[in-house]
Amino acid sequence: MLGRAIRAVLVSGIALLLLGGWLRFELQPPEFDVPERGAVLTHVTVVEPDRRRLDDQTIRIDGGRIVSIEPSKASEVGSGTGRYVLPGLVDMHVHHPPDTILGDVELFGMLFLAHGVTAVRDTGNFDGAVMESRRSIRRGEAVGPRTFACGPILDGAPPFWPGSRVVETPAEAQRVVRELARDGVDCIKVYERLTVEVLDAVRDAAGQADLPVVGHVPAGIGFREARLDDVQHLTGILEEGQTELTDARLRSVITASAVLDIAHTPTLVTWERTSKLSDYPRLRADPAARVLPRYFRDVLWHPQNDPRFRDRTAEDWAGLGEAPENARRVAGRLHEGGVQLLLGTDTMAPFLFPGSSLHEEMREFERIGLDPEEIWATATWRAGEALGEPDLGRIVSGAPADLLIFREDPTRDLGALETLEAVVADGRFYPVALLEEALARRRVHFEGALVDGLTMWAAGWVSPSGS
Ligand SMILES: [Zn+2]
Repeated sequence: MLGRAIRAVLVSGIALLLLGGWLRFELQPPEFDVPERGAVLTHVTVVEPDRRRLDDQTIRIDGGRIVSIEPSKASEVGSGTGRYVLPGLVDMHVHHPPDTILGDVELFGMLFLAHGVTAVRDTGNFDGAVMESRRSIRRGEAVGPRTFACGPILDGAPPFWPGSRVVETPAEAQRVVRELARDGVDCIKVYERLTVEVLDAVRDAAGQADLPVVGHVPAGIGFREARLDDVQHLTGILEEGQTELTDARLRSVITASAVLDIAHTPTLVTWERTSKLSDYPRLRADPAARVLPRYFRDVLWHPQNDPRFRDRTAEDWAGLGEAPENARRVAGRLHEGGVQLLLGTDTMAPFLFPGSSLHEEMREFERIGLDPEEIWATATWRAGEALGEPDLGRIVSGAPADLLIFREDPTRDLGALETLEAVVADGRFYPVALLEEALARRRVHFEGALVDGLTMWAAGWVSPSGS
């Protein structure tokens, strides 16, 4: 009797193991071979936006760096004749998806690169895996952009987002910031429920560790009092639903930003997309959303699953409808006033896509009055400066080898973004066609009945609106 029970347990144990192994195998996305570092680009036009332009150059890349830029010799075979080489784009506000066997971190990485985004700043990581995934990218074990990271979001109790680090006292703030600095973060992300005492302590500790403080101006703390280094989404200026933004108020924000050296990452594309969430079925049906597995659009991005949108009334949504235009007006005024704006998207927030949403943000910047060359400068070397990496975004010897090769010059017309042919990321050369082919294989994989069915079934357990 006992023997039979043991045998039954053993048999079912083995069956479960086999099933687990099979599922693991089936769920894993197709592999992608990351190219080795090193490349030579000949007879190209080097464009450093708003800085310089050099015709007929040869760029040598070794390891992850540009080693030389010099006039091409007539004898050199023209690998890049007629092509324009620009620095890679930087998205200053993204969130990484959970790092699971489904491989979404790498899928995001492929999409970033395929759109010329060679560096991102993760402004709040929910599962704590970003530090490890960026190491895999550097080692060439995964495809993806250079990643700067703030670590977890720091917030008061209870935190707005799950996965945030709760910080309730100044002493705790000091300890947490020192700990994050030791872990190697590049910035500190602060959120809406911090008290003024705690925010002050965060800023002091971050200052000692030479880390910029980026984030939301907490509710109830003045813009000037918060003194963040880089304000996200125009928080603290344009309150949601607020239609009256006086001129005096705007002028005071511009002055404070200039005097206290505060940059703004307005994420205009986020305002635009959020206002459209009122018509969720339409966003969900947009073919653009199919670059990611279905659980993003059907579950993760369903307004019912987002604490910001769950309990909205029709009136709330109507108020939000004006937000994109207000945000544009404010960002335009900040720019006119000489305040530093940066380009970020809030990718992984609803219906914001890795890479293509940064192109949309570039077009938003054009709408508010920047010319394409200025936008390129802002999205490349100015972002590098804001990240404390003055060589990032430059095309000079010794700079990180993050380069884009275009058929047409996109600093003349942003429409030429579509003529991207190849990307060099951390010294690795990726033809865009190769990335697109890998993305197409990924899509076949995640749209397959088994992966789609299993992930949607699992998502249904996690969230009530999963279908
Ligand atoms: Zn964000």
